[in-house]
Amino acid sequence: MAIREGRWDCIRCGTKGIFGRSKVCPNCQSPRPEGVKFYLPEDAVEVTDAEQLKQAQAGADWICAFCGASNEAGRAICKQCNAPREPDSTQQQVKDYALGATPTSGDNSDDPLPPPLPPKSKKTRNLIISAIAFVFSLCVGFCSLFLITKEVTATITGFSWERTIAVEAYRTVTESGWSVPAGGRKISEHLEKYDTRRIKTGTETYACGQRDLGNGHFQEKRCTRDTYREEPIYKTKYTYEIERWVTDHTERATGKDHKPYWPRVSLASQKQREGGRTETYTVYFKDAKQKTYNLNPSLSAWQTYEIGEKHEIKVNMLGDATGIVK
Ligand SMILES: [Zn+2]
Ligand SMILES: [Zn+2]
Repeated sequence: MAIREGRWDCIRCGTKGIFGRSKVCPNCQSPRPEGVKFYLPEDAVEVTDAEQLKQAQAGADWICAFCGASNEAGRAICKQCNAPREPDSTQQQVKDYALGATPTSGDNSDDPLPPPLPPKSKKTRNLIISAIAFVFSLCVGFCSLFLITKEVTATITGFSWERTIAVEAYRTVTESGWSVPAGGRKISEHLEKYDTRRIKTGTETYACGQRDLGNGHFQEKRCTRDTYREEPIYKTKYTYEIERWVTDHTERATGKDHKPYWPRVSLASQKQREGGRTETYTVYFKDAKQKTYNLNPSLSAWQTYEIGEKHEIKVNMLGDATGIVK
């Protein structure tokens, strides 16, 4: 796991980017203070020197209780004042950073802050407001085509009706499925992809962050995760013949009077039956401008209308009649 040399900044004299291996500021000779912030520039190279690697892996620095100097973990006496290491001497903190969270610069950076974004101009804001208003009015306008109606006086000019009955036949059809239902006769079968499952193939390690070793160096953290592959699951799919009721044809009766009737259905054999029915009743109107409208009332309402009657009808903005007022 790769070890890289970090940097630190001297808070006493402001020197930046001091190498992690230095325990005193090269400019003002101040000892590296307890709690110093180590950071890892993005271009920090991997440490390969055996001696430096040994120091990096020895552990966090300890701080001399007498003079405040930073000392390597392996030292028993202070490099600066020769005082022995106290059993409870403080150590630099070891910190773990998640991937991408490792600091790349010190806190007391003199880099100017990026200029604040210019506030959105009034012009832009007005433009946004009018765009929203435009879309809104478009929606309202579109809906009103259907919802807003006017009343038109129109005269009934005629009627029509239509009634249908579907005729179904009991036939042999071919279907396919994951099983053959009762009454089905298998024709063939084949394997087909039904689903997929994840199968664990092993584990892999990946870079998941950096550890600040507390001595001016950072070590890449490796984490482990399971790896998977997708495997299709096959199942037998059957093609089979089965008897089903299917629509054979539709019988239809129509007229332009007030006497609707159901079409005659003659079933050819036991293997035919009546299916679904439909019924539509239409009243035709014409207004003073000779514009025509159709309406489809219920059967009972439809039967009460007579040719020549004048009625108030509701007409939407698209010109379609939507109902009869009176
Ligand atoms: Zn300094
Ligand atoms: Zn000391």
